[in-house]
Amino acid sequence: MDYASSETTVMPLDLLREITNDFSEERRIGSGSYGKVYLGVHQHGKRIAVKILYDMPGIDDEQFQNEFNNLTRLRQQNIVRLVGYCHNIQEVQVEYKAKLVLAEKTHRALCLEYMSNGSLDKYLSDECDRYDWQTGYGIIKGICQGLKYLHNELKPPVYHLDLKPANVLLDENMVARIADFGMSRLFRDEKTRATNSSLGTIGYLPPEYICNNLISDKFDIFSLGVVIIKIMAGHAGYFNSANMSSQEFSNVVQLIWTNRLLETSNLRKAYSEQIIKDDDLEELRELSSIDYKMVCHDGHEGSIATVTEYMVNGSLRTALWKNSKSLGRHKRLIIAMDAAFGMEYLHHKNIVHFDLKSDNLHVNLTDPLRPICKQIIGYVCTSFYLKSMPWIAFQKIGD
Ligand code: ATP
Repeated sequence: MDYASSETTVMPLDLLREITNDFSEERRIGSGSYGKVYLGVHQHGKRIAVKILYDMPGIDDEQFQNEFNNLTRLRQQNIVRLVGYCHNIQEVQVEYKAKLVLAEKTHRALCLEYMSNGSLDKYLSDECDRYDWQTGYGIIKGICQGLKYLHNELKPPVYHLDLKPANVLLDENMVARIADFGMSRLFRDEKTRATNSSLGTIGYLPPEYICNNLISDKFDIFSLGVVIIKIMAGHAGYFNSANMSSQEFSNVVQLIWTNRLLETSNLRKAYSEQIIKDDDLEELRELSSIDYKMVCHDGHEGSIATVTEYMVNGSLRTALWKNSKSLGRHKRLIIAMDAAFGMEYLHHKNIVHFDLKSDNLHVNLTDPLRPICKQIIGYVCTSFYLKSMPWIAFQKIGD
Protein backbone atom coordinates (compact mmCIF):
# COMPACT_ATOMS: atom_id res chain seq x y z
CA MET A 1 0.00 0.00 0.00
CA ASP A 2 1.22 3.49 -0.77
CA TYR A 3 1.05 5.13 2.62
CA ALA A 4 2.15 8.53 1.41
CA SER A 5 -0.57 9.07 -1.15
CA SER A 6 -3.66 7.45 0.36
CA GLU A 7 -6.45 9.93 0.78
CA THR A 8 -8.64 10.45 3.82
CA THR A 9 -12.26 10.95 2.80
CA VAL A 10 -15.37 12.42 4.36
CA MET A 11 -17.83 9.67 5.21
CA PRO A 12 -21.51 10.64 5.56
CA LEU A 13 -23.25 9.45 8.71
CA ASP A 14 -25.82 7.55 6.63
CA LEU A 15 -23.06 5.56 4.95
CA LEU A 16 -21.54 4.69 8.33
CA ARG A 17 -24.97 3.58 9.55
CA GLU A 18 -25.40 1.41 6.48
CA ILE A 19 -22.04 -0.36 6.70
CA THR A 20 -22.26 -0.99 10.47
CA ASN A 21 -25.88 -2.27 10.41
CA ASP A 22 -26.93 0.93 12.16
CA PHE A 23 -24.16 0.56 14.76
CA SER A 24 -25.55 -2.77 15.86
CA GLU A 25 -24.18 -4.66 18.86
CA GLU A 26 -23.05 -7.57 16.66
CA ARG A 27 -20.82 -5.17 14.80
CA ARG A 28 -19.26 -3.66 17.92
CA ILE A 29 -15.61 -4.74 18.13
CA GLY A 30 -14.57 -2.72 21.16
CA SER A 31 -14.98 0.38 23.21
CA GLY A 32 -12.63 2.75 24.97
CA SER A 33 -12.70 5.93 26.99
CA TYR A 34 -13.49 8.08 23.96
CA GLY A 35 -15.89 6.04 21.93
CA LYS A 36 -17.22 2.76 20.61
CA VAL A 37 -15.63 0.90 17.72
CA TYR A 38 -17.70 -0.90 15.05
CA LEU A 39 -16.82 -3.10 12.11
CA GLY A 40 -18.01 -1.52 8.89
CA VAL A 41 -18.31 -3.61 5.74
CA HIS A 42 -18.65 -1.76 2.44
CA GLN A 43 -20.82 -3.20 -0.34
CA HIS A 44 -17.71 -4.27 -2.26
CA GLY A 45 -16.49 -6.14 0.85
CA LYS A 46 -13.83 -3.74 2.12
CA ARG A 47 -13.77 -3.64 5.92
CA ILE A 48 -13.02 -0.62 8.09
CA ALA A 49 -13.21 0.16 11.81
CA VAL A 50 -15.57 3.01 12.68
CA LYS A 51 -14.87 4.73 15.96
CA ILE A 52 -17.83 6.83 17.03
CA LEU A 53 -16.60 9.38 19.55
CA TYR A 54 -18.75 10.08 22.55
CA ASP A 55 -20.41 13.48 22.45
CA MET A 56 -18.24 14.96 25.21
CA PRO A 57 -17.95 18.51 26.41
CA GLY A 58 -14.37 19.69 26.00
CA ILE A 59 -13.94 18.79 22.36
CA ASP A 60 -15.09 21.69 20.22
CA ASP A 61 -15.28 21.59 16.44
CA GLU A 62 -12.11 23.60 15.90
CA GLN A 63 -10.09 21.27 18.08
CA PHE A 64 -11.52 18.24 16.36
CA GLN A 65 -10.64 19.70 12.97
CA ASN A 66 -7.09 20.69 14.01
CA GLU A 67 -6.29 17.38 15.53
CA PHE A 68 -7.96 15.51 12.70
CA ASN A 69 -5.59 17.36 10.32
CA ASN A 70 -2.67 16.11 12.39
CA LEU A 71 -3.93 12.56 12.18
CA THR A 72 -4.19 12.66 8.42
CA ARG A 73 -0.44 13.42 8.23
CA LEU A 74 0.44 10.02 9.61
CA ARG A 75 1.42 7.56 6.90
CA GLN A 76 3.62 4.66 7.90
CA GLN A 77 3.25 0.88 7.81
CA ASN A 78 3.27 0.53 11.62
CA ILE A 79 0.65 3.19 12.25
CA VAL A 80 -3.05 2.44 11.82
CA ARG A 81 -4.18 4.62 8.96
CA LEU A 82 -7.09 6.98 9.15
CA VAL A 83 -9.17 6.39 6.02
CA GLY A 84 -12.02 8.77 6.66
CA TYR A 85 -13.98 10.80 9.13
CA CYS A 86 -17.47 12.00 9.78
CA HIS A 87 -18.58 15.23 11.41
CA ASN A 88 -22.34 15.57 11.42
CA ILE A 89 -24.63 17.88 13.35
CA GLN A 90 -28.29 16.87 13.55
CA GLU A 91 -31.26 18.65 15.00
CA VAL A 92 -33.12 16.36 17.36
CA GLN A 93 -36.13 16.82 19.57
CA VAL A 94 -35.48 16.40 23.27
CA GLU A 95 -37.67 16.80 26.29
CA TYR A 96 -36.78 19.80 28.41
CA LYS A 97 -38.89 20.84 31.40
CA ALA A 98 -41.80 18.70 30.17
CA LYS A 99 -41.63 20.30 26.70
CA LEU A 100 -40.18 19.07 23.41
CA VAL A 101 -37.41 21.38 22.23
CA LEU A 102 -34.93 21.25 19.33
CA ALA A 103 -31.34 20.51 20.22
CA GLU A 104 -28.15 19.89 18.26
CA LYS A 105 -26.53 16.48 18.37
CA THR A 106 -22.98 16.16 17.08
CA HIS A 107 -21.72 12.90 15.60
CA ARG A 108 -17.97 12.58 15.19
CA ALA A 109 -16.41 9.43 13.85
CA LEU A 110 -12.94 8.34 12.85
CA CYS A 111 -12.74 5.60 10.22
CA LEU A 112 -9.64 3.47 10.42
CA GLU A 113 -8.14 0.55 8.59
CA TYR A 114 -9.61 -2.62 10.06
CA MET A 115 -7.07 -4.75 11.91
CA SER A 116 -8.41 -8.29 11.81
CA ASN A 117 -6.25 -9.67 14.64
CA GLY A 118 -7.46 -7.06 17.14
CA SER A 119 -5.29 -5.58 19.84
CA LEU A 120 -2.07 -6.94 21.31
CA ASP A 121 -3.39 -7.09 24.88
CA LYS A 122 -5.49 -10.16 24.19
CA TYR A 123 -2.34 -12.06 23.15
CA LEU A 124 -0.42 -11.24 26.30
CA SER A 125 -2.26 -13.34 28.86
CA ASP A 126 0.02 -15.99 30.35
CA GLU A 127 -2.20 -18.79 29.07
CA CYS A 128 -2.17 -17.54 25.53
CA ASP A 129 0.27 -19.21 23.15
CA ARG A 130 -1.10 -17.87 19.96
CA TYR A 131 2.12 -16.62 18.45
CA ASP A 132 5.73 -17.71 18.36
CA TRP A 133 8.88 -15.81 19.17
CA GLN A 134 9.49 -14.71 15.58
CA THR A 135 6.06 -13.05 15.59
CA GLY A 136 6.69 -11.53 19.03
CA TYR A 137 9.99 -10.11 17.85
CA GLY A 138 8.34 -8.77 14.68
CA ILE A 139 5.69 -7.04 16.81
CA ILE A 140 8.34 -5.37 18.98
CA LYS A 141 10.23 -4.24 15.89
CA GLY A 142 7.06 -2.88 14.31
CA ILE A 143 6.19 -0.80 17.38
CA CYS A 144 9.74 0.59 17.48
CA GLN A 145 9.58 1.53 13.81
CA GLY A 146 6.22 3.22 14.31
CA LEU A 147 7.54 5.25 17.25
CA LYS A 148 10.71 6.18 15.36
CA TYR A 149 8.50 7.58 12.63
CA LEU A 150 6.38 9.59 15.07
CA HIS A 151 9.34 10.97 17.04
CA ASN A 152 12.13 11.34 14.49
CA GLU A 153 10.69 11.43 11.02
CA LEU A 154 7.68 13.70 11.51
CA LYS A 155 8.30 17.44 11.77
CA PRO A 156 7.07 18.52 14.27
CA PRO A 157 7.14 15.19 16.08
CA VAL A 158 4.07 13.49 17.48
CA TYR A 159 4.16 12.01 20.96
CA HIS A 160 1.69 9.22 21.44
CA LEU A 161 1.45 9.50 25.25
CA ASP A 162 -0.71 6.42 25.66
CA LEU A 163 1.31 3.54 24.27
CA LYS A 164 0.07 0.22 25.70
CA PRO A 165 -0.87 -3.21 24.33
CA ALA A 166 -4.53 -2.18 23.88
CA ASN A 167 -3.31 0.53 21.52
CA VAL A 168 -1.20 -1.79 19.40
CA LEU A 169 -3.35 -3.46 16.77
CA LEU A 170 -2.37 -6.45 14.66
CA ASP A 171 -3.19 -6.84 10.99
CA GLU A 172 -3.91 -10.13 9.24
CA ASN A 173 -0.16 -10.86 9.10
CA MET A 174 0.33 -10.02 12.79
CA VAL A 175 2.17 -6.83 11.85
CA ALA A 176 1.97 -4.28 14.67
CA ARG A 177 0.22 -0.95 14.06
CA ILE A 178 0.15 1.76 16.68
CA ALA A 179 -3.36 3.12 17.15
CA ASP A 180 -5.26 5.60 19.23
CA PHE A 181 -2.55 8.26 19.34
CA GLY A 182 -5.07 10.55 17.74
CA MET A 183 -6.97 10.81 20.94
CA SER A 184 -3.84 11.36 22.97
CA ARG A 185 -2.88 14.13 20.61
CA LEU A 186 -6.37 15.49 20.63
CA PHE A 187 -6.27 15.83 24.38
CA ARG A 188 -2.61 16.56 24.76
CA ASP A 189 -2.88 20.24 25.72
CA GLU A 190 -6.47 20.11 26.79
CA LYS A 191 -7.18 21.37 30.30
CA THR A 192 -10.21 19.16 30.84
CA ARG A 193 -8.13 16.14 29.89
CA ALA A 194 -5.35 17.12 32.27
CA THR A 195 -7.61 17.75 35.21
CA ASN A 196 -9.92 14.91 34.34
CA SER A 197 -7.85 11.76 34.37
CA SER A 198 -4.38 12.87 33.32
CA LEU A 199 -2.42 11.44 30.39
CA GLY A 200 -1.77 7.86 29.50
CA THR A 201 -2.56 4.74 31.46
CA ILE A 202 -1.36 3.70 34.90
CA GLY A 203 1.43 1.20 34.60
CA TYR A 204 2.85 2.82 31.47
CA LEU A 205 3.61 6.27 32.89
CA PRO A 206 7.23 7.40 33.41
CA PRO A 207 8.26 8.60 36.88
CA GLU A 208 9.03 12.17 35.72
CA TYR A 209 5.44 12.48 34.57
CA ILE A 210 3.97 10.96 37.74
CA CYS A 211 6.13 13.15 40.01
CA ASN A 212 6.47 16.40 38.04
CA ASN A 213 3.99 16.21 35.15
CA LEU A 214 6.89 16.40 32.65
CA ILE A 215 6.22 15.27 29.11
CA SER A 216 8.83 14.57 26.46
CA ASP A 217 9.53 11.83 23.92
CA LYS A 218 10.86 9.78 26.87
CA PHE A 219 7.25 9.33 27.93
CA ASP A 220 6.61 7.01 24.97
CA ILE A 221 9.98 5.30 25.36
CA PHE A 222 9.16 4.37 28.96
CA SER A 223 5.79 2.94 27.87
CA LEU A 224 7.56 1.09 25.05
CA GLY A 225 9.85 -0.57 27.61
CA VAL A 226 6.85 -1.82 29.58
CA VAL A 227 5.21 -3.17 26.40
CA ILE A 228 8.42 -4.95 25.31
CA ILE A 229 8.88 -6.61 28.71
CA LYS A 230 5.24 -7.76 28.63
CA ILE A 231 5.66 -9.26 25.17
CA MET A 232 8.81 -11.08 26.29
CA ALA A 233 7.75 -12.22 29.76
CA GLY A 234 3.95 -12.02 29.86
CA HIS A 235 1.99 -10.09 32.49
CA ALA A 236 3.18 -12.22 35.42
CA GLY A 237 6.79 -12.13 34.26
CA TYR A 238 6.58 -8.37 33.93
CA PHE A 239 5.49 -7.89 37.53
CA ASN A 240 8.30 -10.14 38.80
CA SER A 241 10.91 -8.60 36.53
CA ALA A 242 11.54 -5.61 38.79
CA ASN A 243 13.09 -7.93 41.39
CA MET A 244 15.30 -9.86 38.97
CA SER A 245 18.85 -9.43 37.76
CA SER A 246 19.20 -9.16 33.99
CA GLN A 247 20.54 -12.74 33.88
CA GLU A 248 17.53 -14.04 35.85
CA PHE A 249 15.20 -12.14 33.57
CA SER A 250 16.86 -13.55 30.49
CA ASN A 251 16.55 -17.10 31.97
CA VAL A 252 12.84 -16.56 32.63
CA VAL A 253 12.29 -15.31 29.10
CA GLN A 254 14.13 -18.28 27.60
CA LEU A 255 12.08 -20.69 29.71
CA ILE A 256 8.78 -19.08 28.71
CA TRP A 257 9.52 -19.27 25.00
CA THR A 258 10.96 -22.77 25.15
CA ASN A 259 7.84 -23.98 26.97
CA ARG A 260 5.64 -22.25 24.48
CA LEU A 261 7.49 -23.90 21.63
CA LEU A 262 7.16 -27.31 23.27
CA GLU A 263 3.45 -26.80 24.02
CA THR A 264 2.82 -25.83 20.44
CA SER A 265 4.70 -28.86 19.20
CA ASN A 266 2.79 -31.15 21.60
CA LEU A 267 -0.47 -29.72 20.35
CA ARG A 268 0.68 -30.30 16.82
CA LYS A 269 1.68 -33.84 17.70
CA ALA A 270 -1.67 -34.58 19.34
CA TYR A 271 -3.45 -33.19 16.30
CA SER A 272 -1.40 -35.30 13.92
CA GLU A 273 -2.06 -38.43 15.97
CA GLN A 274 -5.78 -37.70 15.78
CA ILE A 275 -5.57 -37.44 12.00
CA ILE A 276 -3.62 -40.64 11.82
CA LYS A 277 -6.23 -42.52 13.87
CA ASP A 278 -9.16 -41.22 11.92
CA ASP A 279 -7.83 -41.44 8.44
CA ASP A 280 -6.44 -44.00 6.15
CA LEU A 281 -2.81 -44.14 7.07
CA GLU A 282 -0.11 -45.78 5.15
CA GLU A 283 3.37 -46.16 6.51
CA LEU A 284 5.62 -45.70 3.53
CA ARG A 285 9.06 -46.53 4.64
CA GLU A 286 11.33 -46.45 7.60
CA LEU A 287 14.76 -45.04 7.18
CA SER A 288 17.33 -45.19 9.90
CA SER A 289 18.36 -41.62 9.15
CA ILE A 290 14.82 -40.39 9.69
CA ASP A 291 13.42 -42.88 12.24
CA TYR A 292 9.98 -42.72 10.77
CA LYS A 293 8.07 -40.91 8.10
CA MET A 294 4.41 -41.46 7.43
CA VAL A 295 2.00 -40.28 4.80
CA CYS A 296 -1.62 -39.62 5.56
CA HIS A 297 -4.17 -39.44 2.75
CA ASP A 298 -7.35 -37.58 3.44
CA GLY A 299 -10.03 -39.36 1.45
CA HIS A 300 -12.41 -36.42 1.19
CA GLU A 301 -10.07 -33.62 0.23
CA GLY A 302 -7.42 -35.74 -1.38
CA SER A 303 -4.71 -33.93 0.61
CA ILE A 304 -1.56 -35.54 1.92
CA ALA A 305 0.18 -34.86 5.21
CA THR A 306 3.59 -36.10 6.24
CA VAL A 307 4.42 -36.85 9.87
CA THR A 308 8.04 -36.94 10.96
CA GLU A 309 9.72 -37.07 14.32
CA TYR A 310 9.97 -33.72 16.01
CA MET A 311 13.36 -32.02 15.96
CA VAL A 312 13.28 -29.55 18.83
CA ASN A 313 15.68 -26.95 17.44
CA GLY A 314 14.18 -26.78 13.98
CA SER A 315 16.32 -26.30 10.91
CA LEU A 316 20.09 -26.15 11.12
CA ARG A 317 19.93 -22.67 9.64
CA THR A 318 17.75 -21.43 12.53
CA ALA A 319 19.75 -23.34 15.14
CA LEU A 320 23.02 -21.83 13.91
CA TRP A 321 21.52 -18.39 13.91
CA LYS A 322 19.96 -18.67 17.37
CA ASN A 323 22.87 -20.46 19.02
CA SER A 324 25.73 -18.79 17.18
CA LYS A 325 27.62 -18.14 20.42
CA SER A 326 26.72 -21.19 22.50
CA LEU A 327 27.21 -23.86 19.84
CA GLY A 328 30.76 -25.05 20.41
CA ARG A 329 33.14 -26.58 17.86
CA HIS A 330 32.57 -30.09 19.19
CA LYS A 331 28.79 -29.93 18.61
CA ARG A 332 29.29 -28.35 15.20
CA LEU A 333 31.60 -31.20 14.23
CA ILE A 334 29.02 -33.77 15.38
CA ILE A 335 26.34 -31.99 13.32
CA ALA A 336 28.56 -32.13 10.23
CA MET A 337 29.30 -35.82 10.84
CA ASP A 338 25.63 -36.67 11.40
CA ALA A 339 24.78 -34.95 8.11
CA ALA A 340 27.53 -36.93 6.39
CA PHE A 341 26.32 -40.24 7.90
CA GLY A 342 22.80 -39.47 6.72
CA MET A 343 24.05 -38.79 3.20
CA GLU A 344 26.14 -41.93 3.22
CA TYR A 345 23.07 -43.97 4.17
CA LEU A 346 20.94 -42.39 1.44
CA HIS A 347 23.57 -42.92 -1.23
CA HIS A 348 23.96 -46.50 -0.10
CA LYS A 349 20.21 -46.86 -0.81
CA ASN A 350 20.71 -45.14 -4.19
CA ILE A 351 18.72 -42.10 -3.06
CA VAL A 352 19.99 -38.68 -4.13
CA HIS A 353 18.70 -35.86 -2.00
CA PHE A 354 19.25 -33.01 -4.53
CA ASP A 355 18.16 -30.34 -2.07
CA LEU A 356 20.68 -30.58 0.73
CA LYS A 357 20.98 -27.28 2.57
CA SER A 358 20.82 -26.03 6.13
CA ASP A 359 17.01 -25.62 5.88
CA ASN A 360 16.66 -29.34 5.17
CA LEU A 361 18.89 -30.48 7.99
CA HIS A 362 16.96 -30.47 11.25
CA VAL A 363 18.54 -30.60 14.66
CA ASN A 364 17.69 -31.75 18.15
CA LEU A 365 20.39 -30.48 20.48
CA THR A 366 18.77 -31.84 23.64
CA ASP A 367 18.98 -35.64 23.33
CA PRO A 368 22.60 -36.81 23.87
CA LEU A 369 21.77 -40.45 23.10
CA ARG A 370 20.64 -39.90 19.53
CA PRO A 371 22.05 -38.25 16.41
CA ILE A 372 21.50 -34.54 16.77
CA CYS A 373 21.22 -33.72 13.09
CA LYS A 374 18.96 -35.44 10.56
CA GLN A 375 17.99 -34.86 6.99
CA ILE A 376 14.56 -34.10 5.73
CA ILE A 377 13.62 -36.16 2.70
CA GLY A 378 11.13 -34.45 0.43
CA TYR A 379 9.06 -36.20 -2.21
CA VAL A 380 10.58 -34.00 -4.83
CA CYS A 381 14.00 -35.64 -4.79
CA THR A 382 14.19 -36.11 -8.51
CA SER A 383 16.75 -34.88 -10.96
CA PHE A 384 14.25 -32.59 -12.69
CA TYR A 385 13.25 -30.69 -9.53
CA LEU A 386 16.26 -28.59 -8.66
CA LYS A 387 15.04 -25.51 -6.87
CA SER A 388 17.82 -24.62 -4.45
CA MET A 389 20.42 -23.63 -6.98
CA PRO A 390 23.17 -22.30 -4.68
CA TRP A 391 23.41 -25.65 -2.96
CA ILE A 392 23.77 -27.78 -6.06
CA ALA A 393 27.15 -29.10 -7.09
CA PHE A 394 28.62 -27.19 -10.05
CA GLN A 395 28.76 -30.15 -12.43
CA LYS A 396 24.98 -30.66 -11.89
CA ILE A 397 24.20 -27.09 -12.98
CA GLY A 398 26.19 -27.61 -16.14
CA ASP A 399 24.35 -30.85 -17.00
P1 ATP B 1 -8.82 3.66 25.68
O1 ATP B 1 -9.23 4.50 24.52
O2 ATP B 1 -9.74 3.81 26.85
O3 ATP B 1 -7.38 3.80 26.03
P2 ATP B 1 -8.77 1.44 23.88
O4 ATP B 1 -7.50 1.93 23.28
O5 ATP B 1 -8.91 -0.05 24.04
O6 ATP B 1 -9.04 2.12 25.27
P3 ATP B 1 -10.27 2.12 21.48
O7 ATP B 1 -9.16 2.73 20.72
O8 ATP B 1 -11.58 2.81 21.42
O9 ATP B 1 -10.01 1.97 23.02
O10 ATP B 1 -10.43 0.63 20.96
C1 ATP B 1 -11.26 -0.29 21.60
C2 ATP B 1 -11.01 -1.65 20.99
O11 ATP B 1 -11.57 -1.67 19.68
C3 ATP B 1 -9.54 -2.02 20.81
O12 ATP B 1 -9.00 -2.59 21.97
C4 ATP B 1 -9.60 -3.00 19.66
O13 ATP B 1 -9.92 -4.30 20.15
C5 ATP B 1 -10.76 -2.48 18.84
N1 ATP B 1 -10.27 -1.64 17.73
C6 ATP B 1 -9.98 -0.33 17.74
N2 ATP B 1 -9.56 0.10 16.53
C7 ATP B 1 -9.57 -0.97 15.72
C8 ATP B 1 -9.20 -1.19 14.35
N3 ATP B 1 -8.75 -0.21 13.58
N4 ATP B 1 -9.31 -2.45 13.86
C9 ATP B 1 -9.76 -3.45 14.65
N5 ATP B 1 -10.11 -3.32 15.94
C10 ATP B 1 -10.01 -2.10 16.49
